[in-house]
Amino acid sequence: VRALIVGRGGAPALADAPRPAVPGECLIRVRAAGICGTDLQLLDGYADFAGVPGHEFVGEVEAAGDERGRSLIGRRVVGEINVGCGACASCTAGVKEHCPTRTVLGIVGRPGAFADYVSLPAANLHAVPDDMPDEAAVFVEPTAAACRILEQTRVGPSTRAAVLGDGRFGQLIAQTLKAAGAETLLVGRHPAKLAIAASLGVETAVAGSLPPDAARFDLVVDATGKPEGIAQAVALVRPRGVVVMKSTFHGEAALPTWPIVVHEVTLVGSRCGPFRPAIDLLARGAVRTAPLVSSVARLEDYQQAFAAARTSLKVIFRM
Ligand SMILES: [Zn+2]
Ligand SMILES: [Zn+2]
Repeated sequence: VRALIVGRGGAPALADAPRPAVPGECLIRVRAAGICGTDLQLLDGYADFAGVPGHEFVGEVEAAGDERGRSLIGRRVVGEINVGCGACASCTAGVKEHCPTRTVLGIVGRPGAFADYVSLPAANLHAVPDDMPDEAAVFVEPTAAACRILEQTRVGPSTRAAVLGDGRFGQLIAQTLKAAGAETLLVGRHPAKLAIAASLGVETAVAGSLPPDAARFDLVVDATGKPEGIAQAVALVRPRGVVVMKSTFHGEAALPTWPIVVHEVTLVGSRCGPFRPAIDLLARGAVRTAPLVSSVARLEDYQQAFAAARTSLKVIFRM
């Protein structure tokens, strides 16, 4: 079966690979998989990655290694990407995302979804509603990451929120905050991408057009993916406000820290989130994704697909 394998140094190639067979896990035939910024970073050599990337997928369970998995055979599922050891303090507390020996689908120690088949434990899988198209279901994982913010800080109708970054992730975060009731502004540099957000009812602004002393937001989310995003976020948050950090660029950020101290700003690191609320947001159309799909590609056309993903919003592989 096909698998897109990245060698150390970053050059991907389509290869013929054995079907995964992990005892106790589910074998899932991948139907579609989305390209995310993290995948592009892995291709650029981030984390010295080698293996099969891809962690935003929807697929059909074909075989299972346990009772729970057998009940999913034939179902269309999406999958949480962290697999814990099951025994450490984090895993025992139900936080497999922070298991020190975890594997992460398509990122750390576990082949990902840019392939015909992928393997995950049944406990990681969630069935998706029959009427949710594959092209929407691939957004569950990043939407869950957006929902993580709602677990970390109070967001409601009185929240004035700004999201920095008009890329695929910033767009999902802005819609998610808006769905939670927040008055939400998406700030970006790309008029075409901002126009898509505006067409979905999200208020937008061009980066740099906000007065530098416009520190008035209760919550600012940095989804720029760039080292300079965090300083911009700190400049826009009100005293005692919250800055959520979602950018996982490689390297360091230059950040004057005194404003954080003087204005008593709370910095919150934020990664993976809950799937159930994400599926719900997508199912009821509170987060809309069709306009965010820039193109759909065959796995064979991975080079064009990755190139397109660098400048457009979501590129989806259709297996
Ligand atoms: Zn991702
Ligand atoms: Zn563990």
